[in-house]
Amino acid sequence: MERYYYLKKIHNWLKNNYGKANKCEFCKIKNSKRYEWAKLKDKEYDFKRENFIMLCCKCHRNYDMTDEHRENIRLSQLGNKSRLGTKTSLVARKNMSLGQLGKKLKLINQ
Ligand SMILES: [Zn+2]
Repeated sequence: MERYYYLKKIHNWLKNNYGKANKCEFCKIKNSKRYEWAKLKDKEYDFKRENFIMLCCKCHRNYDMTDEHRENIRLSQLGNKSRLGTKTSLVARKNMSLGQLGKKLKLINQ
């Protein structure tokens, strides 16, 4: 828990001294909804601006993505794939019955 407060303190310090993260220093994207301060991997959590960079959500996630993370995601995606077929057709069927075309077809069938 102590570490959590320490990290929070550093993030607040960053925000107070350098402002909210407002750009991505990696992909330079300008229209991201959110930017975040990210700690550089070879640096420690410390009250040092050079230990951090601003990243957009996407880059931050990619940056923090370890091989272990990647493997977990790959496994969860494998699990989802087997259900993907039924999921898609269910949604398509629902859209059909709700859509104008569905209504018209129903009228014709009656
Ligand atoms: Zn980015």
